[in-house]
Amino acid sequence: MARLPEVAAYVERVGDGAWILSVRCPFCAARHQHGGGDGDAPALGARLAHCVDGGGGSYFLIAGSVDMPRPASRAVRVARAPR
Ligand SMILES: [Zn+2]
Repeated sequence: MARLPEVAAYVERVGDGAWILSVRCPFCAARHQHGGGDGDAPALGARLAHCVDGGGGSYFLIAGSVDMPRPASRAVRVARAPR
């Protein structure tokens, strides 16, 4: 079984308690967002890249705070205020 590439996810929590995981895609370099459930901690792990049809487009999300220079265009409330 092939090892999935690990990708550090930028974790945000929206108002209803749901986690939003943003990643810089290792396949297309675009930003993708995945749901992380609504538990006490975000659900990380394997995800399918949105840009790859068929097999081979998976990666494994790990917690991280990678640079996300372009925030999502739609307003998302973050869990911790920047200041
Ligand atoms: Zn992609």
